[in-house]
Amino acid sequence: MVSIRNIVKKYKSGSEEIAALGGISAEIRTGEFTVILGPSGSGKSTMLNMLGGMDRPTSGQILVGGEDISELSEKKLTDYRRKNVGFVFQFYNLVENLTAYENVGIAADLNGNAGNAADALKDVGLEKRMKSFPNQLSGGEMQRVAIARAVAKSPKLLLCDEPTGALDVATGEKIFALLKKYSRNKDTAVVVVTHNPEVAKIADHVIRLRDGMIVADETVNQQSIEQQAV
Ligand code: ADP
Repeated sequence: MVSIRNIVKKYKSGSEEIAALGGISAEIRTGEFTVILGPSGSGKSTMLNMLGGMDRPTSGQILVGGEDISELSEKKLTDYRRKNVGFVFQFYNLVENLTAYENVGIAADLNGNAGNAADALKDVGLEKRMKSFPNQLSGGEMQRVAIARAVAKSPKLLLCDEPTGALDVATGEKIFALLKKYSRNKDTAVVVVTHNPEVAKIADHVIRLRDGMIVADETVNQQSIEQQAV
């Protein structure tokens, strides 16, 4: 569903230029749980930001349904993000003075789907916490609210940057299981950036980055193995 072709991203830092991505190509498919793995500084967040239209590449293409989003106007790129992309961050990014329901509802409303907020919270197991404020919730619960907020607008791309980075191992595993569940929706591609190699075990597709380059790209789900065999 999203193809990135020969993406280069350079950042200027004083007089120096840093190549965060050195010319990478990959396919992100709906119905799959894709994990981008690599050490800190390898370019994972930069790649995620390119997919989400948060930033533009220095060169290369990002094809979404055949259209190159790197060439869209600022307004059209904002529309692309709003309609197609749900983001989940390491530190949840919830609004402190809004309840769980309001946090989800505001995002859903922006996309014209306000009615989905309660359903989205039920779906992540928080039907009894809708009126709670973020500071009344555990880290795992806050991340569930953030996931509900991201999925309430039925995004084509659910992009998660170190979503378990602030959680203990057991809670993190539950969050990964929840994200995997959403990848089973054939209209959604779930992409998780992490430095935790354990997650590769439950992924359908693993992209390994090092120094801004893809060093391995493995598709491990049964369907693709069958397709390769044909
Ligand atoms: P990761 O997510 O794997 O930790 P990043 O994509 O955040 O890696 O960063 C890749 C490289 O690009 C790093 O060397 C980082 O310092 C650099 N970088 C990322 N964002 C910026 C920026 N806005 N300005 C300058 N350098 C940046």
